[in-house]
Amino acid sequence: MADTIFKKIIDREIPADIVYEDQQCLAFKDINPQAPIHLLIIPKKEIATVNDIEAADAAVVGHLFYVAAKLAKELGVADDGYRTVINCNKHGGQEVYHLHVHLLAGKPLGWPPYAP
Ligand code: AMP
Repeated sequence: MADTIFKKIIDREIPADIVYEDQQCLAFKDINPQAPIHLLIIPKKEIATVNDIEAADAAVVGHLFYVAAKLAKELGVADDGYRTVINCNKHGGQEVYHLHVHLLAGKPLGWPPYAP
């Protein structure tokens, strides 16, 4: 299978506005922000969707949320609050098939995301 756009960002084949990196993950600004702060936190390991998370991935998936909270605190939005979102497959609105946590912050966010 062809590399996803996020794999190419990990490999520095295409540019991104990277705000954080460690051995397990990378965080960068979403190219089409839906809030004043919109970051994507992705594992370096290629995991396509939430459905593909294996037991052995528990630590890295937990790490993504640890990093989301760490970045929210550093950006000064942790107390006001923020939203973390993972979209899965078609009905979830997933466009890029490399697991990613959206971190949305900086204004009150609408809820619920679906109205019948
Ligand atoms: P999702 O719909 O959950 O798969 O989210 C994919 C997200 O990736 C969208 O919010 C896009 O705006 C974002 N995105 C796509 N390409 C890039 C890119 N090259 N750099 C940063 N964000 C991107």
